[in-house]
Amino acid sequence: MQQRMLGRTGLSVSVIGFGAAPLGNEYGDLDPRDGQRAVHTAIEEGINFFDTSPYYGRTLSEERLGEALLGRRERVVLSTKCGRYDRAKFDFSAARVTASLDESLARLRTDYVDILLAHDIEFGSVEQVLHETIPAMRKLQKQGKARWIGISGLPIRLLATVAVAGQVDVVLSYCHYNLMIRDLNELLVPSLEKNQIGLINASPLHMGMLTHAGPPPWHPAAPEIKEAARRVVSLCAERGLNPAVLGLNFALQNKYISSTLVGISHPAQVKENLEALTFKADPELLDAIEETIAPVKGRSWPSGRPENNL
Ligand code: NAD
Repeated sequence: MQQRMLGRTGLSVSVIGFGAAPLGNEYGDLDPRDGQRAVHTAIEEGINFFDTSPYYGRTLSEERLGEALLGRRERVVLSTKCGRYDRAKFDFSAARVTASLDESLARLRTDYVDILLAHDIEFGSVEQVLHETIPAMRKLQKQGKARWIGISGLPIRLLATVAVAGQVDVVLSYCHYNLMIRDLNELLVPSLEKNQIGLINASPLHMGMLTHAGPPPWHPAAPEIKEAARRVVSLCAERGLNPAVLGLNFALQNKYISSTLVGISHPAQVKENLEALTFKADPELLDAIEETIAPVKGRSWPSGRPENNL
């Protein structure tokens, strides 16, 4: 598995990363044994980057990932988050962020994470994130509990502004670079590149939309975006292709992205997703997809406070 350096962190991450939101049942209940075997298979196949959050499954994902990583912790680059705890429960205060990491470390059965991200910063106040959350995270870094720190969220202009103003090490952006939307290159990459900030791209399947199972019930996209994605899935099905492989292959071609995080529920998906590394998309299919998504191409959805959706 190819690895890339993550900004100036010195961390070398596999180009495909393991998104652990599904381990928290965010995409439907999974058999915990499948989740555990998926983690083990991923490590055997060279995936060394794992991302979770206390929010996923309201701590369940961290619990399950921590258990699966027992005896394997040193082989992986581990990322978790702080500040988001439920659909509408956020707390970016220094006290909460500090306690949160200790709780995460206990669930993950480790004494440090490689990356700690403030989770979905658009739900907080930018002032607080810059002047309280990030400084508190830097203190945790000095204590050795987090090797590097960063931010995650959906509004991409906000990520660019806060990443530069707060001089973070890493940004995790999601649903801004995949077959349905590509504004990451224009709106985020230039600022990060100039400041040597590492970039992780998440949700190459547009949070499950580009799969046969379709999006989960909580997916916030407008119905016409979901309908366009459903047509993309049909175009793939007509050609006997797994849309997940095509979608992941597309995202992997962006060279500034160090790792693309795909949510994984089952060991079979690890193997399928590895096919994306060598897959060659038929240009005729890509043209048909462009035509299908044209009416909604690049459309996102609001997330967090109105003033943060710049
Ligand atoms: P995704 O686009 O990766 O889609 C995940 C869905 O695709 C799951 O239902 C999974 O079972 C399915 N899938 C994966 N491989 C498949 C295959 N080969 N065949 C069929 N279905 C397949 O969305 P995601 O999980 O939300 O994003 C990836 C990860 O990125 C998350 O798990 C999380 O770690 C991270 N993330 C972070 C944020 C944030 O910080 N705000 C937001 C989104 C995602």
